[in-house]
Amino acid sequence: MTESEKQRNLIIISGPSGVGKSTICKQVVEKLNAFLSVSSTTRPQSESEQQGREYNFLPQQEFEAMIQNDAFLEYAEVFGNYYGTPKEPVDEALAAGRIVILEIDVQGALRVKKVRLQAQTIFILPPRTKDLQERINGRGRGEDEETKKCRLETASREIAAAWQHYDHMVINDDLSQAIQEVVDIIDEKLKGQE
Ligand code: 5GP
Repeated sequence: MTESEKQRNLIIISGPSGVGKSTICKQVVEKLNAFLSVSSTTRPQSESEQQGREYNFLPQQEFEAMIQNDAFLEYAEVFGNYYGTPKEPVDEALAAGRIVILEIDVQGALRVKKVRLQAQTIFILPPRTKDLQERINGRGRGEDEETKKCRLETASREIAAAWQHYDHMVINDDLSQAIQEVVDIIDEKLKGQE
């Protein structure tokens, strides 16, 4: 496998909060035996989350030290917290010939695309904006109204940017269909390499 072929195994999946992208990513990872990148973040850990599973939860100082050491493929500030993709695990998995999935936001995706030209971007859309509002309001993370409003506003901005910049848009109307669509996009991409 050439270097450029390995880079094509890098798949970026984004979508607004509450669209179900974590569920989709998990299933796609299982079906394709892919490597799911675990991001680092300074945001507080919620009760349902486990250190090292959803995120590496880090104090701000440690995150900033990683920035200084150029340890991130990309990082961004989202809702007042840092989020970043550690470079080393991603590059190790790519070097081993694996498909690597990054579940990151639009600004992060566009940054990765600049340095990894072959990366594929997939954006998950809600079937209706109203559903998104309900999912953000109803998912019991204990967020205040201001944060929820901010997530909704960010969602509208991200959707607009995604139509412009992403390689593929997938509507999550039916979950298993959306998962299959993402798998097909990745399969198709890999077939193009043979
Ligand atoms: P949440 O707090 O809901 O887990 O994530 C908030 C946003 O940060 C989501 O849009 C998520 O995709 C994004 N995000 C998670 N990890 C990363 C990362 O490593 N880099 C970037 N740029 N965004 C991330």
